[in-house]
Amino acid sequence: MAKRPNVSEAPRKGPAKRLKKVDSAGSLSRKVKVQSSEKPDTAEDSDTALLVSPLAGLPVEILIEILGWLLPFELVKSVLHLSKPFRALLMPDNPHAQHIWAASRALAGGMPSPGPGLSEVEWTNLIFVKQCSTCKISNKSDMKPDFYLQKRLCKKCKKFKSIRSREWNTFSGTILVTQSKKSKWQYLRSDMIQVQKEHDDLPTSERAKYLETKRQWVKSHTDEKHSSMCTSWYEERFRDPVIDGLVACVLNRMTKGTK
Ligand SMILES: [Zn+2]
Repeated sequence: MAKRPNVSEAPRKGPAKRLKKVDSAGSLSRKVKVQSSEKPDTAEDSDTALLVSPLAGLPVEILIEILGWLLPFELVKSVLHLSKPFRALLMPDNPHAQHIWAASRALAGGMPSPGPGLSEVEWTNLIFVKQCSTCKISNKSDMKPDFYLQKRLCKKCKKFKSIRSREWNTFSGTILVTQSKKSKWQYLRSDMIQVQKEHDDLPTSERAKYLETKRQWVKSHTDEKHSSMCTSWYEERFRDPVIDGLVACVLNRMTKGTK
């Protein structure tokens, strides 16, 4: 268990004269020169001084508990960009990150853990950001996340082909596949075109290795059970007006905060 920092070791003299920085290991060890009575050296120092100082004296364990009371979308849109120390707390190599994200996901209607191969940030964006992963168009109501493809797609970009097609034979397993409404497996035509092009651009001697690398990547990003569970969770939770209201409230707060 992580040792709770001894507050008596770091007495505070007046309001935030020195700001403690949380390093990648989550400890409050390094000190950053931010004197409240002096002009900050850079814009980044200025942001840090303004935004972090109220929380600067808190033991890291308390900070972690506070962050766990924010929704994943708030962590991504606000905390991640607050300052380097806060960003470090949310990164996967930080021993406290898992606790923060798990608490935050539990708060968001039991949001499942990230899909295979995805970071917490990528996962949160997939679930909350209504933007087509391909053409980047936003706010289309029919754009639900596809947890098998790990993408959100607008109607225009949803061009599928059955895995029974002839081109699938050579490239089988090199791109992610998803299920149609009739539970038949299909792939995105645009994904296939990209793999075909990259494959054809290579010298013949390197093509087999390329396909193998692609198959390994697909394996590391595939978990049918998890994708199926997430699809059901999403349908259930986002049909719930309470959650819809919660998300709308958070988005509204975010928009006001950035103005
Ligand atoms: Zn699109």
